[in-house]
Amino acid sequence: MEIYKVGGRVKKICTVCNEHLDHLIKSITKQGAISRVICSQCGSNGVYRSHAMVTKLENLSTKTGDLYDQSRTYRSGQFMRHPIFGQGEVITVLDAKKIDVLFMDRMRRLVHSRL
Ligand SMILES: [Zn+2]
Repeated sequence: MEIYKVGGRVKKICTVCNEHLDHLIKSITKQGAISRVICSQCGSNGVYRSHAMVTKLENLSTKTGDLYDQSRTYRSGQFMRHPIFGQGEVITVLDAKKIDVLFMDRMRRLVHSRL
């Protein structure tokens, strides 16, 4: 796996230019994955989606989970339907009360096991 650094460069499709272009890495997640990039041509800010992420999102769009319920205890890999954010997949169970859920637009932190 490649190691990325903030300030480094990565090639990706710019959604504004609609071309495969160099992008400046603006931020990186704690896991070492690229999260935000800036297009070197048009300067637009974009969310970096790796191939694995795109596949995950395609998969997500075909699932229908149960309505999100904060009193439930979620496990990673579970699907849910949020009244505002729509379809989501639990990616990480952070602790007994917090989960990271991937929605079609971005990752969000939600509560769970709330009594
Ligand atoms: Zn661009």
